[in-house]
Amino acid sequence: GATLGMLGGGQLGRMTALAAARLGYRTHVLTHEAEGPCAQVAAEATIVTDYTDRAALTRFAAAVDVVTLEWENIPTEAVAFLAERVPVHPGAGVLAVAQDRLREKGFANALGIGTAPFRAVRDVAGLADAVAALGTPSVLKSTRMGYDGKGQVRLAPGTDLAAAWAEMGAPEGILEGWVDFALEVSVIVARREDGEMAAWPAVENRHRAGILDETLAPADIAPSVAAEADRIARALAEALGVVGLLAVEMFVTRDGTVLVNEIAPRPHNSGHWTMDFAETCQFEQLVRAVCGLPLGPTGIRAPARMKNLIGDEVAQWPALLAEPGAKLHLYGKAQARPGRKMGHVNRPR
Ligand code: ATP
Ligand code: MG
Ligand code: MG
Repeated sequence: GATLGMLGGGQLGRMTALAAARLGYRTHVLTHEAEGPCAQVAAEATIVTDYTDRAALTRFAAAVDVVTLEWENIPTEAVAFLAERVPVHPGAGVLAVAQDRLREKGFANALGIGTAPFRAVRDVAGLADAVAALGTPSVLKSTRMGYDGKGQVRLAPGTDLAAAWAEMGAPEGILEGWVDFALEVSVIVARREDGEMAAWPAVENRHRAGILDETLAPADIAPSVAAEADRIARALAEALGVVGLLAVEMFVTRDGTVLVNEIAPRPHNSGHWTMDFAETCQFEQLVRAVCGLPLGPTGIRAPARMKNLIGDEVAQWPALLAEPGAKLHLYGKAQARPGRKMGHVNRPR
């Protein structure tokens, strides 16, 4: 059988490895977590302290047939190094855009796709200029590496800009005008190397404290809004040349305008409902797309609600197992720290 290489060892890699195994593939994970969620279920693991370790990358490349990833912040030089030895999907060019909020928004805008208004910010004086241009409320984010709302500071009238800059804590930032959205949606699209695409219907995402809390599938939005979200996701996947999955997070404004928030070229938390309630789950679809297999159908089998189990919420698991119709997924993480995604539950709605 063939071996899938996985860059990154978290829960997204774990669920991909489980789906790959169903299709007869072995998974070899390159990760810094020897006991992490993916290493626990993968056939093999290469443990690194640094993803640019060339000796480790060379061994990994020789041991796998195709490489994909579950984390978009893998250094692009590591991905380029691997790509000289083995197919890597998605590639370094896609990551270079998805790793940087300025490039991500610029890329969307160049295709005529709207985003929040934004300015690059390099220091406190630049932040003052950006606030003068965009006003408040607005949000200062680190350009790179943020997730689950980390590295973000909300600005209101009178916010101390020097303190906000220090709190953001990165060398380069982006100020975004605050979008007074009606709801947040996402579309995940799979794309093969030959350009064939398949997307699941748009879903609604509800956040709590900057972290995804619940996803409702499908989103309760007008068909024209759903079609626009689908069009945007496909246009971005096509223009980026993604092979694999592209998740596109979007805001729907009160007048029905769809704006891109951010993209992720990998399985996405808002696609976890597909494991139990779609014709094909996102993890299997990723394996299909990167291995050149036919894409599966993406229809909804029944309306669903995905609830993340964050931190102590995971303690509910025995009750969830006892609940008829609830489908529990746990990630094998030892410590339930606050804000940590420990598992999720899919339910009909
Ligand atoms: P993720 O965990 O999805 O990668 P992240 O840390 O990259 O999150 P964002 O997706 O940029 O952060 O922001 C997190 C959430 O904060 C958004 O889903 C949205 O609810 C809110 N948010 C971020 N930027 C804006 C904005 N410009 N206007 C309104 N809400 C925003
Ligand atoms: Mg993000
Ligand atoms: Mg986000």
